[in-house]
Amino acid sequence: MSRFETKHASTISAPIPSRQARASQKRRNRRGKAHNPCNAPAAKRAGNSSGPRSSSPVIAVNGLGRPSMGLRSRMDDGPAQTEARLEKMRGAVRTLLECLGEDPDREGLIATPTRFAEALLFLTKGYQVNAETMINNALFYEGHNEMVIVRDIDICSLCEHHLLPFTGKMHIGYIPCNTVIGLSKLPRIAEMFSRRLQIQERVTREVAHAVMDILKPQGVAVVMESSHMCMVMRGVEKTGTTTVTSCVLGCFESKYKTRNEFMSLVGVKKM
Ligand SMILES: [Zn+2]
Repeated sequence: MSRFETKHASTISAPIPSRQARASQKRRNRRGKAHNPCNAPAAKRAGNSSGPRSSSPVIAVNGLGRPSMGLRSRMDDGPAQTEARLEKMRGAVRTLLECLGEDPDREGLIATPTRFAEALLFLTKGYQVNAETMINNALFYEGHNEMVIVRDIDICSLCEHHLLPFTGKMHIGYIPCNTVIGLSKLPRIAEMFSRRLQIQERVTREVAHAVMDILKPQGVAVVMESSHMCMVMRGVEKTGTTTVTSCVLGCFESKYKTRNEFMSLVGVKKM
């Protein structure tokens, strides 16, 4: 039935034969359902960001975050390959120290290549997180359709341009379609995407799309405020600056009021 016919049917006034009345009632019911965004097909609700898991812009078919090039091999490495990888990294750090004019064999630096390599692997461990394993079925049908916000999630990430840290807070909000996610999972999703080489704009967007993809809510909003060491310690050397990025999807994107309610609840001025 076309949209026009539906609209026309709603204007039919009494008296009408009972058979026609029943058909009209059916149409009204269908229309009523369509008004509830939670009854719309998931793909339609989520807009471009949703669809089958494999078409997610941030989570690949294997459950790993994109880009997944090389991640599989790092995950599947045996002890010998892990040691070979570490040895290669140690050599690279030693070269860096030599190029700085340092003596990599002096007491204070002798263990630095190992420490640095291990630290770098830890700081990029988000590459190895599998979204499906991490969520571990912590999705619960609650019939809850009000805004949920987890605020002030600590973020430590590495700027991919300088390999220097940027740190700050992330706020994640969503409006469920009856299904809610275990609250501790939102910081874990933030961790999955921040523990890798990033730029702030992308980590914000990836977290929003991942929540959209995993939970299929009515909408997701993510705001991140952070301070970049590559700005603080070098370049413009502005110590007090923070960078704010946001990504809004679904109803947060389409409804100004919803977006502003979220922004005021997380303490960000209207965007
Ligand atoms: Zn940087």
